Amino acid sequence: RKEFQQKEDSSTSDVFRSPPSSIKVAARDSQAPGCLKPCMISLGAGTPSSAYFPFEEIKVKVSNPPRFAGEVPESTLHLAKYDFEPRVSDYSLDVALNYGQGTGSAQMLRFVTEHTELVHSPPYGDWECCLTVGSTSAWDSTLRIFCEKGDYIIAEEYAFSSALEAALPMGIKVLSVKMDEQGLVPESLDDLLSSWDEGERGARKPFLLYMVPTGQNPTGATQLLERRKAIYAVAQKHDLYIVEDEPYYYLQLPPYTPGESSSHEGNKPCALIPSYLSLDVDGRVLRLDSLSKVLAPGSRTGWVTASQQVVEKFVRMNEVSSQHPSGFSQAILFKLLNHHWGHGGFFQWLEKIQTEYTWRRDTFLDACNKFLPKDIASWNPSRAGMFQWIEIDWRSHPLYKTGANHRTIQQVIFECAMQQKVFLTQGSFFWSDSSTTESRMFFRATYATASQDDLTEAARRFGEALKDQFK
Ligand code: PMP
Ligand code: PLP
Repeated sequence: RKEFQQKEDSSTSDVFRSPPSSIKVAARDSQAPGCLKPCMISLGAGTPSSAYFPFEEIKVKVSNPPRFAGEVPESTLHLAKYDFEPRVSDYSLDVALNYGQGTGSAQMLRFVTEHTELVHSPPYGDWECCLTVGSTSAWDSTLRIFCEKGDYIIAEEYAFSSALEAALPMGIKVLSVKMDEQGLVPESLDDLLSSWDEGERGARKPFLLYMVPTGQNPTGATQLLERRKAIYAVAQKHDLYIVEDEPYYYLQLPPYTPGESSSHEGNKPCALIPSYLSLDVDGRVLRLDSLSKVLAPGSRTGWVTASQQVVEKFVRMNEVSSQHPSGFSQAILFKLLNHHWGHGGFFQWLEKIQTEYTWRRDTFLDACNKFLPKDIASWNPSRAGMFQWIEIDWRSHPLYKTGANHRTIQQVIFECAMQQKVFLTQGSFFWSDSSTTESRMFFRATYATASQDDLTEAARRFGEALKDQFK
């Protein structure tokens, strides 16, 4: 501790401002081979004895690959407290339910690192992963690691509201960049940064770019490969660090073809657009992955991938905050992903999820085509994720002529939809520029949850609400 304190005092850079947690160092060292001599008794680490964990065994029923349907749809996995056969588990409950390291368990860390290598193969040597308790927390850590009060971060014109709400109480401001149907517009980003005036803005030039490149929340926009390359080039020009928040990455969907929703059985999974991580020759990308949208949000498990220097900061943050995902989660996920499915089974599961979201999107869009008045509502079919962004021509609303503003008209349309018993989220919730007042008007619909019949009925009800409002 003393050594780190000295380094911190003597250093002008912040590299040494986050020494490892002393407790975690002690716990790791005490487990290092050769540390404990034969018959040595440890009175070091304050970890409770697993004898007092009242969990002897966990049984989980899980879905089976390859098709996750058919005659044998489930298997039962057994997780034992003590596992004397390393081949069976090598991660028994006595270990999983005790304290672990800030990286997450070595077993789960290895699985997500292998998975990341298989999917993204980052083009530089010293990349690493670290488990997180999901991307919400990982983004909060990112802001704490990179930003200071008064800084600006860069976000898409419409952005995930909780990501903005994490920044605001830290005194971090948002520079909002125009979007089109493929998401963030690189020329707009370049213009804003090229004309940045520190004096006028009262802040240093922004250096952190937050994006959801695939199935963006809320717009559903997906950046194609050329767009990603163009944005990466702007990031290189202005030395930006890119955060790609990608909970919907595996929910990439084939282009929408009207009227084909009924044939969803035959849907083929579609090829994945390369990630920023896979294009990252400079080590300027932090990728946030999450199991929330592909396994279960309540698992509170995800991971970050970046250069070793950046990942180290996440480990330091975890040590003094969440520590690591719940041992229950890690043990169950590891048993499922590593032992039962393996990487191949996990990919098959991801493909299944893709095909499920494809029929959901197609069902909803077929109904939108049928029921929404096209002179008032318009949309670009989503290519990924769980959201459809619907634009409303609000200036043709009867109240517009009487001087009603955007907020009022959005609210009356929302309330009319509620009377029709359908709930959509108001687009203005996602404005990343808080000074916006008059703008285009959108509603966000998700096709993630409702049943097939309800997706159709919801579009019919929204159509009725619009016809009523704009009559
Ligand atoms: N980022 C985005 C863009 C999201 O849409 C969501 C889920 N609503 C999250 C992060 C949260 O993910 P997690 O459950 O991993 O915290
Ligand atoms: N509910 C909770 C508690 C969440 O944390 C999230 C996402 O983080 C959501 C719902 C999904 O939010 P949205 O549909 O607005 O992305």
